Amino acid sequence: MSLFRHGFAVGGSSSVRQFSVVIGMAVLIAGCGDSSDPDSAPPLPDSAEIEVSITSEQETPMQSDIPSPPQQAMTEEQPKDRRKPATPPRADSPPELNDAELLELGIRTFRSSDVILRTDAVTFENEEELRRLPELTSELLGTMIERLETYAPSLPIQARLPVRSFIMDDLKLFVQADLAPLELREMLHGVYRDQTFWMREQATDYYRRHLFFHESIHCLLDIYGYGYPVWFHEGMAELYAVHRITPEGSLEFGIVPGSDQVDGGFGRIANIRREIEAGRFRTIEDVINMSSNEFYPHQESYAWAWAVCRFLADDQLTGVAFENLLASVNPPQFRQQLERNLSLNSPRLQADWAVFATTLEPDFEPDRMLIQWNDTSAMPLTGNVEMKILADRNWQPTGVALSPGQTCRVTATGQFQINDAPRPWISEPQGVSAEYVDGHPVGQLQAVVYNERDPGEKQDYGFLNVIPIGREGVITSETGGELFLRLNDRPSSWSNNAGEVTVRVRAGE
Ligand SMILES: [Zn+2]
Repeated sequence: MSLFRHGFAVGGSSSVRQFSVVIGMAVLIAGCGDSSDPDSAPPLPDSAEIEVSITSEQETPMQSDIPSPPQQAMTEEQPKDRRKPATPPRADSPPELNDAELLELGIRTFRSSDVILRTDAVTFENEEELRRLPELTSELLGTMIERLETYAPSLPIQARLPVRSFIMDDLKLFVQADLAPLELREMLHGVYRDQTFWMREQATDYYRRHLFFHESIHCLLDIYGYGYPVWFHEGMAELYAVHRITPEGSLEFGIVPGSDQVDGGFGRIANIRREIEAGRFRTIEDVINMSSNEFYPHQESYAWAWAVCRFLADDQLTGVAFENLLASVNPPQFRQQLERNLSLNSPRLQADWAVFATTLEPDFEPDRMLIQWNDTSAMPLTGNVEMKILADRNWQPTGVALSPGQTCRVTATGQFQINDAPRPWISEPQGVSAEYVDGHPVGQLQAVVYNERDPGEKQDYGFLNVIPIGREGVITSETGGELFLRLNDRPSSWSNNAGEVTVRVRAGE
């Protein structure tokens, strides 16, 4: 039996107890990894993710150098059990070698107040990066702790610190020094257990930091132990690990990934794009129902988990409730919060998700790329209606409802800015011929007819059947629904637009 193996069976368990035990063991020893995109990222030494876990309660006991998982099932009545260490340290454990002794073995130590890093991967090129990594991570963890303490002040979150970490070139060295279990030889990227994680040295400074942050966040969020399902654990770790170092040297994390992050090895957006092109679009429900054995070695599962967390954090319909999920401390509570407060089955949210997932690109602008919903009901179209459509955001409601089979004529006039670099670029409603998005000119007036009761197929939700209009066009809607309009542009390029067009919608041809 291999203690560390890829995947384990969690999904489909109808027993809360069984679910808790298996999840519990999984989060104690869970693997993580990268999303290196073979198309756009520099080659990384190990491009697959490893998920390390235990398959069943009946397996052979762990080897003596590895703490055992908790034997007791977590239930709602005993939530505090989750915060205990898996097992106390063995009385006969040899004391850990000190910094000087480890240095003689070729293992350097770098510290901050909350993070201890031991590594044999120091080179002339990366030494400064490794030296500052604990400090940067302290900054990240400090901010997250502040946030967590706001939600659940009674939790002993400070007890999660310090985080012990290992960046390894030569695993054998760490095994000999009693700092890592031999089973990690199967690890391709990173593995964490309680407050300790191990990771392979990475090919880029960006990705080393990213994976280091990712594993550190697991160590911190594991305070809730079984409280989080795997998509949330992995999605949140990825969400917060996306970062940049500003020219002034400060850390920004939890950001929308841009080209710097993609160049550094962040391949989740490319994963999603490839999945959708291959006909494997996933709904939010599909993603949150993913079991742990759907993760390693499937890079795309990590990508979907990141995308759903990013989306739920950004969407106007779910942003606040998503933050509040952090306060859940057990599976029923988490599930309840998810179902009660996030309305994942609402047609509007699903339409937003379809727009988000199918158009993801680096530097996307969440506030502007998602649908601009209106709370007032659309009115049936009888004569003429005139409205303004703004150039700087995606789909906008017109307040016009078409009945099934109804035809209308749409005409548009006006000039607007479609880009601001290298200088303001002016377009009219037919769009510009020099740049296309999804086969249509940038700046082109486009329409969809959205029927909340008949939103279309899984991947559609009414917003992917785009009707090109330009200066003038005729629409006949079979299903009927509200008319939405936009001036075509990329998800990363709305904020450099300005101005509006005047649109007239007339019933009949
Ligand atoms: Zn992970």
